[in-house]
Amino acid sequence: MFKRILVANRGEIALRIIRCCREMGIETVAVYSTADEQSLPVMLAAHRVCIGPEKAQDSYLNQEVILETARKMGCDAIHPGYGFLSENADFAEACEKEGITFIGPSAEVIRKMGDKQTARALMQKNQVPVVPGSPNLLSSLREAEEQAKKIGYPVLIKATAGGGGKGMRKVFTEEELEKAFHMARAEAEAAFGNGEVYLEKLILAPRHIEFQILADNYGNIVHLGERDCSIQKNNQKLLEETPSWALDHKLRERMGKEAVRVARAAGYTNAGTVEFVLDKDHNFYFIEMNTRIQVEHPITELLCGVDLVKEQIRIAAGRRMELRQEEIELNGHAMECRINAIKPGKIEFLHFPAGPRVRVDSHLYNGCEVSPYYDSMVAKIIVCGKTRLETIRRMRRALEELMVEGVETNTELMYLVTLHPEFISGNYNTSFWEKNSETILRWNEEGKASDENT
Ligand code: ADP
Ligand code: ADP
Ligand code: MG
Repeated sequence: MFKRILVANRGEIALRIIRCCREMGIETVAVYSTADEQSLPVMLAAHRVCIGPEKAQDSYLNQEVILETARKMGCDAIHPGYGFLSENADFAEACEKEGITFIGPSAEVIRKMGDKQTARALMQKNQVPVVPGSPNLLSSLREAEEQAKKIGYPVLIKATAGGGGKGMRKVFTEEELEKAFHMARAEAEAAFGNGEVYLEKLILAPRHIEFQILADNYGNIVHLGERDCSIQKNNQKLLEETPSWALDHKLRERMGKEAVRVARAAGYTNAGTVEFVLDKDHNFYFIEMNTRIQVEHPITELLCGVDLVKEQIRIAAGRRMELRQEEIELNGHAMECRINAIKPGKIEFLHFPAGPRVRVDSHLYNGCEVSPYYDSMVAKIIVCGKTRLETIRRMRRALEELMVEGVETNTELMYLVTLHPEFISGNYNTSFWEKNSETILRWNEEGKASDENT
């Protein structure tokens, strides 16, 4: 087993990894930017090294400095978390060359799956259903026009290097194509240093269903059920739950099998997520694979009692996976709300919910600063229960208990989502926010959340 792991991330996921390492008896090295000097993961790690100024480009994305630090500190592995370098094949390769284990799949697999168009082509070759789309990257607006006509409007322009909902544009008519094409390319170029885009048929109001995969180095691959992440704002997830209300036993089994097939076709190892969109008629299509631990992984952990980060570390250390597909039990229900800071600032008062079957993953503490330099997610409220309704009620009570003062958050809005009839019905899709945000924002103005409390 590893002796010392460098945690190449920040915030709640850095803390999550450090907690796991402590339980496994592995030492940790936190690397941090000057903005995070006073952060919880930096305080809780066994060792800490400042690697640069606030801007991620100069710190959390600085591959050379991070590798150099790993070497100097005698680390035998690096955990990249999510975001930052987690899906950077060059970094994984540099680690491999240094003889430092990158906790994730191989550089080759990251490269293959990180390029959406390449991943799509590979899945098509392996008879996995993918969204109909352009067969290759679009070299010009003309080509985009031709392909869009062939596929039929509406279409979705997608950056092949995309992530975090960036570099995507919906196009409903030919007139909109030119502007959308240039905007998607510019956004992708700025965000990923790669402006290449392709087209997919826009599936109207689909559900986002993803499967958690674990694969060891000996050909064992299992899935740990699905997560329904259809509650999204600007293609970014807000609330996730498992199981999905849209799947029956048979469909879950079919999609799970496809997800395992995706992983096998990719030569996948370690933890990963296979994402699908599911249309109204229950057709499902592969959209991408995330080759890392995911933000919403805790709902899967609560449902099946597996520590996914621990499994990641064990697999990376060359251990054989003990889990067998038949033994994985998915009982009950679990749900996560992402709490985002609306503006940076100082936390004046903080109280986290607790009690039965409530988990909070957060790096916040009383008096800490929420810095403007990074992702706005500051906490994840995760609950589980016997039934979906019990879980929704528990989530409401957890959100009622959550107190964050000094920094405005989306807590009230998340609370109102859990009160919305469409959400309660379980019968929602990715258009939920677009369709209902006006109502929810009005409820917020009218103070519906506080009415419900009394
Ligand atoms: P998840 O699918 O785990 O919910 P998200 O898409 O929300 O992941 O992304 C998790 C974090 O990683 C966010 O901070 C997001 O901005 C960032 N992120 C995701 N993909 C990329 C990428 N390709 N490049 C840079 N950052 C990314
Ligand atoms: P990212 O790498 O940014 O996460 P994804 O390919 O996973 O990009 O797409 C993000 C979200 O956009 C999905 O969760 C889904 O809601 C929506 N989406 C993606 N592809 C399609 C599509 N072809 N039709 C409809 N919605 C889509
Ligand atoms: Mg995605």
